Amino acid sequence: MTDFGLFIDGEWTQGSGGQTVPVLNPATEEILGHLPLATTADLDRAVAAAVKGFATWRAVSIAERVAILHRAADLLVKRADRVGRVMTLEQGKPLKEARGEVLRVAGALRWDADDARRAYGRIIPSADDTVLSVRHEPVGPVAAFTPWNFPAGSPMRKIAAALSAGCSIVIKASEETPGTACELVRCFTEAGVPAGVLNLVFGDPAEVSKHLIAKPEIRLVAFTGSIPVGKLLAAHAGSEMKPCLMELGGHAPVIVCADADPVAAARKAAFAKFVNAGQVCTSPSRFLVHEDVYDEFVTEFLAATDRVTVGDGLEDGVTMGPLANPRRLKAMEEFVTDAVSRGANLIRGGERLDRAGFFFAPTVLTDVPADARVMTEEPFGPIAPIVSFSDLDDALRIANALPYGLAAYGFTRSSATAEKLIRGFEAGILSINHCGGSVHEAPSGGVKQSGYGKEGGPEGLEGYLVTKRVSHLLV
Ligand code: NAD
Repeated sequence: MTDFGLFIDGEWTQGSGGQTVPVLNPATEEILGHLPLATTADLDRAVAAAVKGFATWRAVSIAERVAILHRAADLLVKRADRVGRVMTLEQGKPLKEARGEVLRVAGALRWDADDARRAYGRIIPSADDTVLSVRHEPVGPVAAFTPWNFPAGSPMRKIAAALSAGCSIVIKASEETPGTACELVRCFTEAGVPAGVLNLVFGDPAEVSKHLIAKPEIRLVAFTGSIPVGKLLAAHAGSEMKPCLMELGGHAPVIVCADADPVAAARKAAFAKFVNAGQVCTSPSRFLVHEDVYDEFVTEFLAATDRVTVGDGLEDGVTMGPLANPRRLKAMEEFVTDAVSRGANLIRGGERLDRAGFFFAPTVLTDVPADARVMTEEPFGPIAPIVSFSDLDDALRIANALPYGLAAYGFTRSSATAEKLIRGFEAGILSINHCGGSVHEAPSGGVKQSGYGKEGGPEGLEGYLVTKRVSHLLV
């Protein structure tokens, strides 16, 4: 395992309060180490460092900034095995997935850094004798808060965009997966990011976020997590008139139309469902299948479910690790009990595995009533509720009935039906005939209560920039 610490003003510290929390391996429930928590004095130091770091970093030429960030990406690629192992130990996902996540975030960092070269402004033909221009500048010190499901992916999305744009950042990564965040920070500092530009803290999430968001020096709030917490942070930020980027939860519908290939759809959907044990905000989580292809879809989905190998992510051949924490286990048990009590058929899984660790069996429910909690609340775990439909408009109505609007998936062989789905789904991220993940070059983000602001693509950088209009009368 790696050493845990806070990173403030270019130095590792154990904080000034002496308070720690244990970090667990979810596959064994063993303690991996103790994580120091920041006091408000530590947080104030981090904010002061970020103010100083912002002044330093915004003055670094874009060429040098990009070179430093590429060096950090190189280091991350070199250390992918080590960082991936740290991630599997503290989060549980299979080593191959963890290593893949590290490589992916190195790519995202390079993409953001290169995109910062194109933060063009413009000169506007002026109606009078002023020179009228528009410039983009870094917004300033950022406060960011990230969860435990993508221990490298979530922090890197914020750090890469902030640093590429020329901002400094104070990031509170998850107290449950701190080692991966510490490893990321080491890559940046060894690559030459100056002191104060990147600060990493841990603590009581509610206290840290309230304290940091209230600081006038913090100019932007970026959060990934649940909708209730997102609303709370947006309210804090609103009272200070601060912009926010909110990447919140989803409950992604999958519509499999009558003309789709049910076998291919089931294989792709089942694979996506059980990746990271379903703890993904874009995870397919409501399966609406046309009655003509329902039986074939369910048969193949069950076969794919039976091929999932659950175990410690460090072991060869494991395709699904434990849930990341005991809260998710309890939530899964409650979703299943509720659905079954309302009449759903439990045809696979449905319970915790009888071994140490937070393991839950890949679970399939069919004929799930519309009022079952698993059909209306984000499950964030390895549960697949499958229902049939006969009319596509009804399926779209069900898909759009919830306040979520993050991801959606459609399967059809008809281009006209595909276009109907594309226009009909109320979602920020749409995949047709596959269940692909996010990519660096295109924006990801939700609509409705799934949040606002984008990560990835040119839109990702825009969130960290402010626009300045300049009219210059030449004298
Ligand atoms: P939670 O809602 O308490 O926490 C979610 C994340 O927000 C955690 O990382 C937590 O540390 C952080 N958090 C909580 N309160 C905070 C606060 N006041 N200020 C700043 N950060 C705060 O619940 P949880 O048990 O960790 O996760 C469960 C739910 O969270 C899931 O059901 C899912 O909906 C959601 N979630 C979403 C994502 C995502 O990628 N959008 C990631 C993780 C969790």
